[in-house]
Amino acid sequence: MGRPATLKHLLDSHFREYDSPEFKLKRAKCHHCDTELVNENPRKVRHLAQCDTYLDIMAELGKDNAITLKAKRLSSKQPALQMAKLDKGVKERFDKQATLAVIMGARLFSLFEEPYMKSFIQSVSGNTYTPPSSRKIGRK
Ligand SMILES: [Zn+2]
Repeated sequence: MGRPATLKHLLDSHFREYDSPEFKLKRAKCHHCDTELVNENPRKVRHLAQCDTYLDIMAELGKDNAITLKAKRLSSKQPALQMAKLDKGVKERFDKQATLAVIMGARLFSLFEEPYMKSFIQSVSGNTYTPPSSRKIGRK
């Protein structure tokens, strides 16, 4: 088993470093998902801790290291967000806030129907909240 892998060693095997004319700083590309980022260790660690492909591989191998442990810490902080269902009053309050965000910000009524926005809100709410549709916002 030998010495524990150093952070640099750990990271080097998952990224390819390269220079890009578009960026001042050296870049790195994740071997697992092709995500490109600035070639800095903290960013690489943060990426791997969120890289589903990498985490799946490690889980399959049954291996843990500083990064998978970090990922587990991150996900174990979320149970509070993965609540069963929103209270009706809370849901109504969120809908009201969402409607205000659209109207006061002069956004399109369909703001929350945009797929990326939808997926963002579902993620941060632990899939407990679906924002109001454009028809619902329009009725307010
Ligand atoms: Zn990745």
